[in-house]
Amino acid sequence: MEENKLLIILVVNTNLYYAFNTLGTDVPDPCGQFAWLRSKLQLAQDEKLKVIITAHAPPGYFEREALVPFFNDSYNNAYVDLLNDFGGVILVQIYGHEHTDSFKLFSGPKGEIESVALLAPSVTPWHASVFGGTAINPSVRLYHYTRSEVLDYFQYHLNLSQVISSSDSTLNTTADSSLEAGNETEIPKWELFYQARETYGLSSLSTINMASLYKQLESNNTLFQKYYLFNSAGYNNGVCDSSCKKNHICAIAYLKIDDVVHCMHFKSPRSHTLSYEHLSKFGKELAGNFHKSNASQLIITLVVVSMALTVVLAVVLAVMLIMVVIKRSRMTTTSHMNITNITTDLDLSCFLKAWRGREGRRGEQLPSEVGITATGEPHQGILNAWEDDAWHI
Ligand SMILES: [Zn+2]
Repeated sequence: MEENKLLIILVVNTNLYYAFNTLGTDVPDPCGQFAWLRSKLQLAQDEKLKVIITAHAPPGYFEREALVPFFNDSYNNAYVDLLNDFGGVILVQIYGHEHTDSFKLFSGPKGEIESVALLAPSVTPWHASVFGGTAINPSVRLYHYTRSEVLDYFQYHLNLSQVISSSDSTLNTTADSSLEAGNETEIPKWELFYQARETYGLSSLSTINMASLYKQLESNNTLFQKYYLFNSAGYNNGVCDSSCKKNHICAIAYLKIDDVVHCMHFKSPRSHTLSYEHLSKFGKELAGNFHKSNASQLIITLVVVSMALTVVLAVVLAVMLIMVVIKRSRMTTTSHMNITNITTDLDLSCFLKAWRGREGRRGEQLPSEVGITATGEPHQGILNAWEDDAWHI
């Protein structure tokens, strides 16, 4: 039975491929992670095991504005191609980074759907004013899965609008009343916002079912508008019109630049090696064609966003461990996992040296909880990138 098999969880540091990160643009495989990922997926395939892939940033484009890719173009394509080679073993892919609630379908050159990536909204109620950004309600997602499929997820959120109006009315009465015991009606409550399987009418969140959901979102506008409200974790952005919807439809189903451009009917600004410079140019062209925002503002925003994300990068580097997990039984909120093996055979010094370069700049300490000592030599390309201040903080 499937239940007796191992489930492999691969934690990938996709920040190495991040579009604003130029450290690896001259390195085909930063830190050897592509080779490592391929070897693990091949192992899973040989052993007939399923794999969950999880990482911070996903490949592809932001669904609220299919304008800026998350990865450097060459890495984006390599990553997508690699995972498509092993679609049969991938149970699901789990990402964050966008702060919004969406998903992505990985498909091959003939349109064959290989796997699905689920994107959970964030706890941080970040309100971006560009790139179709939106405020979101703070969110936490609980996945319900077995070793053979993702059954469901429970999306919780904290409705900030209610919290704010509640605190306003509290301030109008007694300043300290919210602190008084027994005044429970004024305590903000996290609540179940929606349950995916029930809401979308799916038997599970398998790849094929999520592909089916995608088709429904295309044709059923009522369902799409519901998804759109979920996309911002319940923050009301009104109705998503046809132009707005196109971004979502294209970004969910297409992950490569050529495909997204084709889907959006853009005049192709093709760039096979999308560096920071190319990215800016790309952003300008699209902004000029489809938005009234000026390019300089766009570039400034890109820089600000990249600076903010370096903080996230630091956290991801600190927890860059690769886990192989045996799960004894179906996971629920109350069941436990029997973790029998947490390991990595990657050269962590490559990642940690990069962190230390950062440490030197900012005077920060390597988090002691990592419990790893960097040994050996880091990848020269990464050192060069640090020296060149490519990750300017
Ligand atoms: Zn992020």
